[in-house]
Amino acid sequence: MILNLSEIGRATTIEGIPASPGIVIGKAFILDAERPHVPEEEIAAEEIGREVERFREAIEDTKVLLRRLRGELEEELGENQAAIFDAHLMILEDSMVVEGTLKRITDDCTRAELALTETIGHVTRAMGRTEDEYLKDRIYDIKDIERRLLMRLLGRDDRTLRNLDDEVIVVAHDLAPTDTASMRKERVKGFITEVGGRTSHASIMARSLEIPAVVGAHSVTESISQGETVIIDGVLGLVVYGFDTAVLEYYLERKREYEDFEKQLLKLKDYPAVTRDGRKFELGANIEGPEDVASAVSHGAEGIGLFRTEYLFLARQDIPSEDEQYEAYRSVVESMAPGPVLIRTLDVGGDKFGLAGQHEAEANPFLGWRGIRYSLAHPNIFIRQLKAILRASAYGNVRIMFPMVSSINEVKDGKQVLEAARQQLRIEGQEFCEDIEVGIMIETPAAVVLADALAREVDFFSIGSNDLIQYTLAVDRGNDRVAYLYDQYHPAVLELIRQTVRAAKKHRKWVGLCGEMAGDPLSVLLLIGLGLSELSTSPLMLPEVKSIIRSTSYNSARKVVSRALDMQTGPEVRRYLEQIFKRKYPEISATEMIV
Ligand code: PEP
Ligand code: MG
Repeated sequence: MILNLSEIGRATTIEGIPASPGIVIGKAFILDAERPHVPEEEIAAEEIGREVERFREAIEDTKVLLRRLRGELEEELGENQAAIFDAHLMILEDSMVVEGTLKRITDDCTRAELALTETIGHVTRAMGRTEDEYLKDRIYDIKDIERRLLMRLLGRDDRTLRNLDDEVIVVAHDLAPTDTASMRKERVKGFITEVGGRTSHASIMARSLEIPAVVGAHSVTESISQGETVIIDGVLGLVVYGFDTAVLEYYLERKREYEDFEKQLLKLKDYPAVTRDGRKFELGANIEGPEDVASAVSHGAEGIGLFRTEYLFLARQDIPSEDEQYEAYRSVVESMAPGPVLIRTLDVGGDKFGLAGQHEAEANPFLGWRGIRYSLAHPNIFIRQLKAILRASAYGNVRIMFPMVSSINEVKDGKQVLEAARQQLRIEGQEFCEDIEVGIMIETPAAVVLADALAREVDFFSIGSNDLIQYTLAVDRGNDRVAYLYDQYHPAVLELIRQTVRAAKKHRKWVGLCGEMAGDPLSVLLLIGLGLSELSTSPLMLPEVKSIIRSTSYNSARKVVSRALDMQTGPEVRRYLEQIFKRKYPEISATEMIV
């Protein structure tokens, strides 16, 4: 809906895409992720001494800053994560970087900033040409150090998301996995980005952190000033600033209402997700790491329907060891037992980049080295992960799932590596559960077309609607310019879900859905009526989904589906669902502002 704030008071708004629900009011912190501009002026010979001095000071100050950050990180996340900074500190001692820059200042009569960028450019180009994977990885570290030194030399504030002093709303062009990994919920109360869609990495992280967010808010970094008070309306996808007290009061009231409504829904936490005519659905939570389990449990998840394991691998300098992964998986499995934990193997690529060893940017990352493709190309990483997952299976109910499948051979090959992992564990005398369920994500149109044959190979399907929609409609899920075409109710998408369910049922396999669509209140009737038996979504959305399931009947959901499948456009389906929704769930409609 369009909210006409001018009827309430004075305010300026930017319309974006609602990425994570809730309302928050706070001070903007504009994240300056861009590399600072470097002046290219020459200097007089007598200024050389001063430039040398400035550069040495910048090196020393940066060392002090990094040691402090290292200490903080060690206290909070342990030695392993803190070790990231050791590589950075070593670069500040590296003679190629330090002596190289000093030589350029004196030989070429340039300012320290320019001498530094030229030296780093030279060093990284040489490193990029080597075959040595370890050295290539260091390029990211060197670039990071270059940015820090430049900020210092230019007298700019080098605040990052990790060392924020106040509570803020982060405003950025985009947020990479490394940015979101360093966000702390006590400080970051919400975020706004200029790019992205509802299913892009940053949006998923916002829901996981349970903070309101709006993405695709064009030119927000230019419109809002550092420190300005802004409102994020994560229900409608609005960024509000320059407002008067009438608008502020309106939002304080809506915030209160929203929070009351959430509290009401949480009362259903311990009830099953069963329809009025007695059909039971499995409700799982999507998590990104062991730290999300508490939220999954407190929001009433019966299990984990998607553990996105790639977050254990991103924003660090190495690949986590088998033991480290095992500890993470085991802690989730033990906490959820006897509930199921569906662990998805590494799904890097697409917009989840930054894995150690992934160097070259791809022209089409969503069509590139993603998911099972990456794992099969890196058998050592793959087998290490599978062994860790299998070992965790001794402690509860584990399911394994391969992402981004587009051919039968990928599944067969994946299962072969899984068998090799089992074999290694037997030799090592490690315990694991012999008969865990193995499934795949259905997220490419090819997988739907092949669903009949794929169903023979696996124990279950989980539809990844985030990707299935993007690949079916040829719409990049993270590109806000084409977000209007990213339509979960598009008849082609609904038809593919229907075909998937039919193929699974024919082979008596269960089928669930773990894309963001599962957490959209409007979609729930459609999904249960389509015959899915499991839905998994971010913990935050679970109470609403459960309340919808509990107040409907399976029979009426089937009728909704049969009408919807006859419609010819997505907007038509949406309007139809909205009408039913307003009638059946007036309270949810009011809070979600469906009018
Ligand atoms: C999906 O594609 O729907 C999904 C759940 O996986 P991800 O969002 O991690 O790609
Ligand atoms: Mg996916």
